[in-house]
Amino acid sequence: MKINKEQTDILVGLQSIDTECVRIKSVLVDLPRKIETLDADLEVYENDISDRENAFSEKKKEYREDESDIQMNLSKIKERDVKLLSVRDNKTYQILLREIDELKKKNFATEDKMLENLEYTEKEEGLLTQKKAEFEQAKTEIEKEKEEIGIEKEQEEKKISELEEQWKNISQKLKPELLKSYLDVRQRTGSVAVAAAKNSVCSGCNMNIPPQMFNELQKCDTLQLCPHCHRIIYWANGD
Ligand SMILES: [Zn+2]
Repeated sequence: MKINKEQTDILVGLQSIDTECVRIKSVLVDLPRKIETLDADLEVYENDISDRENAFSEKKKEYREDESDIQMNLSKIKERDVKLLSVRDNKTYQILLREIDELKKKNFATEDKMLENLEYTEKEEGLLTQKKAEFEQAKTEIEKEKEEIGIEKEQEEKKISELEEQWKNISQKLKPELLKSYLDVRQRTGSVAVAAAKNSVCSGCNMNIPPQMFNELQKCDTLQLCPHCHRIIYWANGD
């Protein structure tokens, strides 16, 4: 198939547009993933806060329960104290004393537990406030990032449609049989249809081009395909 320098340049131009489109499309595929990652980060944060809040209110509830246990035990102690005043037999007296002792021990233990609880909730309260503030800040930052991603998406999509328009215009200057070859090779290789050949090496597959073919290529007057990857190759030593 005959070709000249101008037609070769058009093929190279089409290829560079296609390469750029492939790059932009991969960026566009990545953008929603970026958003998903940001949302997932935020969710982890939010879950951590809600777990902490649950644990916090559980501890607060425990504290109130302990408080009322103590009150209950105190009134039991009081009851026994009153009974002690009127008890006559020693056995009952001893039982009451033991019961009072047990109740007091229980209350001591509960008081210790409440102190620990208080220490925890005081510390946790500060931590929660801090975490919530951090979360709000992260949320604002992520919203901003998502907005930027949205803008980037629009810009990239606009670029693609401009490139596609350019591609159409340039391809009209190409001989139909050359355009068909380009499209055939592009379909077969996936994306890169045109590769430069420099120093007898095809840049599409990095394999050596036979000397005979490389000589032919330098004349720039026939369309040559790489014998290894079957891409359209052109002589690029002058570039
Ligand atoms: Zn090749």
